[in-house]
Amino acid sequence: MCLCFFRGKGYSIEFVRNMWDIKDKLERGPLIQITDKADDICAICPNNAGGTCTAQAKVAEYDRQVMQRCGLAVGDEMSYRDFDELVRQRIILPSKRKEICANCQWDSMCEKIRA
Ligand code: SF4
Repeated sequence: MCLCFFRGKGYSIEFVRNMWDIKDKLERGPLIQITDKADDICAICPNNAGGTCTAQAKVAEYDRQVMQRCGLAVGDEMSYRDFDELVRQRIILPSKRKEICANCQWDSMCEKIRA
């Protein structure tokens, strides 16, 4: 969901660079697998403490909400394009994002972006 709103801001220069790389790769439409653990984005995040997010409880709830609203479960595989479309149709277009992550530190920035 965050990728829809990513415009080059993030937790560190390395984090932002990694986000651009991942965004580039995903736009080519690879197969992805749903996980509720630290993922390829978390890999270069300063909040990743040995594979666990320092805000794990908050992030786990965001993940749970996105999976539930998209009808997905951990381990599901699909093309990134299908996943992106699901997130847009079920969360972003009906303006449900704030119901999930209004308490995120980046909320005010995402609020200004038309994803
Ligand atoms: S979930 Fe935590 S570790 Fe992963 S990108 Fe977000 S803040 Fe970083």
